Amino acid sequence: MLSLEEAQARIVALARPVEAEAVPLAQAMGRICAKAVLAQRTQPATPLSAMDGYAVSSHDPGPWRVIGESAAGKGWHHPIAAGQTVRIFTGAPVPVGADCVIMQEDVSASDGIATLTGDVSPAPGRHVRPAGSDFAAGDILVTKGARITPAMIGLAAMGGHNKIACARPVKVAILSTGNELVEPGKPCGPDQIPGSNGVMLAALLGRPDVAVEDLGILPDDAGAIAAALDRARSADVILTIGGASVGDHDLVQPALIAAGGQIDFWKVAMRPGKPLIAGRLGDAVVLGLPGNPVSAFVTAILFARPLIAACAGASDPLPARSRVPLASPLPANGPRTDHVRARLVSGKADPVGLNDSAALLALARADVLIVRPPDAPEAPEGPEVDIVTIA
Ligand code: AMP
Ligand code: MG
Repeated sequence: MLSLEEAQARIVALARPVEAEAVPLAQAMGRICAKAVLAQRTQPATPLSAMDGYAVSSHDPGPWRVIGESAAGKGWHHPIAAGQTVRIFTGAPVPVGADCVIMQEDVSASDGIATLTGDVSPAPGRHVRPAGSDFAAGDILVTKGARITPAMIGLAAMGGHNKIACARPVKVAILSTGNELVEPGKPCGPDQIPGSNGVMLAALLGRPDVAVEDLGILPDDAGAIAAALDRARSADVILTIGGASVGDHDLVQPALIAAGGQIDFWKVAMRPGKPLIAGRLGDAVVLGLPGNPVSAFVTAILFARPLIAACAGASDPLPARSRVPLASPLPANGPRTDHVRARLVSGKADPVGLNDSAALLALARADVLIVRPPDAPEAPEGPEVDIVTIA
């Protein structure tokens, strides 16, 4: 049996990075940066005022003659001499000869003369943003492999760009298998249940860097599954749900072999979600997830998302773990890594109670998975535990 970490490393290693494309900034949110974004300009390009006030030399205690005005978008581009000042506004260039801005609250001005009234004195650099204090031309603004955030989009724009080279969306095909499954919303016979995993995983995986196609529900028929796999082979990642074990009705393995794929079957020492299929079909990576809804959900977070992120070239494809205090005690863990569904209450992880791998209501109430290492001892209330966010 593989450990969770071994299985994650092997899955990430299956990824083949997709090509890059130039993406307008307005569409770059959440995409993976494919080439470092370098500043094409220095920001600020010249020293700028951080306040409304008066630009003076720090050697000159005043009073000063007001010789002009520097506003954002309309600067004062003449040097100022001793005994002179320029009325200045936030974001305006600081004129040559000035190295300090006195806040307007500390100055009284009349008849063109400004006098210090506040309990301050001019000091070099006060309320001035030096040239290049944010970044300089050539600085790395966004690193290759970063997931683009709103701040990075603003930064790239300030750096002189209107596009970012991003990985093209990773194409993911989802195939649900099971004779008992019916389309959500259709009436169910006594032997049937709604196929809830397809829409759930499409929602879970559908991010700006992913193009998900839900190919619907297939019967437990190796021929039908093989044909569907073959139709999906232009995807980068094919996710199958259900039938991943080695029971009589577990047909994903034979179907993948029949479709011409290479296959690896692993048991992973984790709960929920023990059996996992990993393989290839042509250029596509195939990941076979277990069908129990919570198992499908958890393995999608722990394996499918990292695989997709690695295909997009993300520098940190694995789910981020953080640590929070435990709100109520947990029993000792068995030999497999456990993922306990929990709610965050006042910053503490509070287990929702029902840990059945088919219990969707309990899953939907949870914000996080508490990750419990194999053989972890009884955990009292209070000390911190590892969590992965799922909300
Ligand atoms: P399997 O992995 O195919 O053995 O399925 C395990 C359990 O998950 C069974 O109870 C199935 O009915 C259920 N299941 C499988 N696929 C889905 C699905 N797409 N949506 C909801 N439940 C499913
Ligand atoms: Mg099944």
